[in-house]
Amino acid sequence: MDTKRVRAGNRATGAIMPEPSVSPIVGLHHVTAIASDPQRNLDFYTGVLGLRFVKRTINFDDPGSYHLYFGDDTGSPGTILTFFPWPHAHRGTPGIGETSATAFRVPADSLVYWEARLLDAGVPVERAPERFGDMVLSFADPDGMRLELIGADSPAAHPPRFSNVAAEHSIRGFFGVTLCEAGFERTAAVLETMGFSRTGEEGNRYRFSAPGGALGSHIDLLVQPQLVYGRMGAGSVHHIAFRAPEDAAQRAWREELKKEALDVTPVLDRTYFHSIYFREPGGVLFEIATDPPGFTFDEPIESLGEALKLPPWLEPKRALIERSLPALTLHHQREKR
Ligand code: ZN
Repeated sequence: MDTKRVRAGNRATGAIMPEPSVSPIVGLHHVTAIASDPQRNLDFYTGVLGLRFVKRTINFDDPGSYHLYFGDDTGSPGTILTFFPWPHAHRGTPGIGETSATAFRVPADSLVYWEARLLDAGVPVERAPERFGDMVLSFADPDGMRLELIGADSPAAHPPRFSNVAAEHSIRGFFGVTLCEAGFERTAAVLETMGFSRTGEEGNRYRFSAPGGALGSHIDLLVQPQLVYGRMGAGSVHHIAFRAPEDAAQRAWREELKKEALDVTPVLDRTYFHSIYFREPGGVLFEIATDPPGFTFDEPIESLGEALKLPPWLEPKRALIERSLPALTLHHQREKR
């Protein structure tokens, strides 16, 4: 890979940056948000958006609640939206220091299909103003999480099985996210360190893009200093994760970020990927997650999401954990009965 591009478009200091040894970040790995009712969350993302439910597990830091993962057929990096559904969670208040919209790519010709599909499902949907030349549909999930479908063609590499959305219209994965910020300069500097460069500006929206055009390669900073800081709750994005191709690249990024005086966590084992976390200066929690081992690590691709998967250290408590979790039924399992 062309590592020289990592520093391209970096801060306009005029200084010659040392050649980095890190491989470029190509885009988002996953987005993690908070929901309330787990069955309603599952029904919306599989039944309405047609994503595949790729993992049924628990919050490793809170084993009494689920961690649900949705994505393309295999849970490819760049397609994964995950939720902590807390049945009694209060709704979050959107504001500064948060991801204010999560955008998926669909073929431009499919936007008409999606608009009709969402309206049929009783989901109010708006055609947002064209953004950097792309058409945008804007709507919310049942917990009020802001979602967008952006007409930007890319092939359906792994269309989800068990979906009633035809492969030609299927959600391809992430387009990117919009972060609500009080100012953009300090967040921009971190994104530039990570290899993103500024590719557009429309009003108070500044677009940063990773090289290569991978899924989830656009991060928009929407500067809204008149707002107050957001408060996490149902419908809020908890954090966004960027991709590292493997562990060595992640370690290299950890060192790079520490040089920028960012407070980065040690590497944490999340079973399906390894993670480091840090908060960007504007307040949004960032993660870098490894592509491997992926979601077929502990169950076959044919039955992803059907059984509750626990990490080895929680297996001894399985009976207790299963009793404490609400029932959750997948549509295609229901139909099999
Ligand atoms: Zn994460």
